[in-house]
Amino acid sequence: MAEAAADAHPNNKRKHNPNGLANESKERVIPRLLKEPNLSHAPDNYDDLVNIEYPPSLYSTMEQYLPSHMLTAPRDKKLAFMDRVLVKYRPNGERARHSIQKHREYRDRVKDKYKRLHEDLYTLDPDQIFVEPFRKAVENGSEAALREILTEHSPGVFTFTMLQPGFCSKVLEEVAHFEKWAHEVKVSVLRPNTMNNYGAVLDDIGMETMLDQLMMKFIRPFAALLFFNVGGATLDTHHGFVVEYSIGGDLDLGFHVDDSEVTLNVCLGKEFDGGELFFRGVRCDAHVNGEARSEEMLEYSHVPGRAILHAGRHRHGAKAITSGQRTNLILWCRSSEFRELKKYQRDFSAWCGECLLRKKERRRRLTNAKRQPAA
Ligand SMILES: [Zn+2]
Repeated sequence: MAEAAADAHPNNKRKHNPNGLANESKERVIPRLLKEPNLSHAPDNYDDLVNIEYPPSLYSTMEQYLPSHMLTAPRDKKLAFMDRVLVKYRPNGERARHSIQKHREYRDRVKDKYKRLHEDLYTLDPDQIFVEPFRKAVENGSEAALREILTEHSPGVFTFTMLQPGFCSKVLEEVAHFEKWAHEVKVSVLRPNTMNNYGAVLDDIGMETMLDQLMMKFIRPFAALLFFNVGGATLDTHHGFVVEYSIGGDLDLGFHVDDSEVTLNVCLGKEFDGGELFFRGVRCDAHVNGEARSEEMLEYSHVPGRAILHAGRHRHGAKAITSGQRTNLILWCRSSEFRELKKYQRDFSAWCGECLLRKKERRRRLTNAKRQPAA
């Protein structure tokens, strides 16, 4: 299944539908989980299953949140139930459900037939992947050590040098190798989202476990510190892909928000001019089309190996490249807990620039009214 983007286009006048849930879904019963885990329940093990959508450990953990009548069900019944819960966290969740089978077939075919170029890319080896200052900062783990390697370009947009040039080159070669294979055997590559016509989903070619470890061990510490208000401390699933921009291919990417709580975006190379990222402030669904303030405007030029970390709701886009080819590795990091809690909230002033402004304005009016009581 192509993880079609549920990206909101801020200029799109249609009502934004954040979960990608079609209107007909109102009539369907979405299964619900318990608020508190049932710690006395011993969950099944899912390690032996290859065709599951999420890491086996997620299903085991999730079992403790199953409603009591499901706890004694056979494993396949529990799996089906949990998949129905999880599908709503995927982009365009409802549409995705219909194409789950197709996506499984695609993944199976890649798994069976695709011969990897760089086998070492498929396991997480920090010494081979990360530059030393990044690795040391995460090893240390203290707030000071993590902050030490960061540059904050404008509020909520952080960069740091992350990947070794050798690793970047290998990923570029692997993706090119995969595209070549797909072309030869006439498999159409499922693109990362509806906005990119080039690029590939790294999870589909076998890098899911590696990217999951990368998120949990190396990105979550930063996210917990920098993006606590948008679920940064509870990231639990991801969508990992590469996007390619070139003359004759995709040139740019329109203004949008990501279907993620926190986005990691690392330039892999190669040589290019242009293609700057622009940012326009963090907004909730209700305010996604609003104006940006001058202090929220940022333009950033990619540097190979250097990562950008921002909230998924941080509105952004990519300018057209003017020469060469640019490929970026992107990890949309998601928190099921944050998405669940968000449904019950109306005020997003903890992270939406516009909600915060309105809240301050209300307080100011209230304070003024108290100072000048009506005669
Ligand atoms: Zn808002």
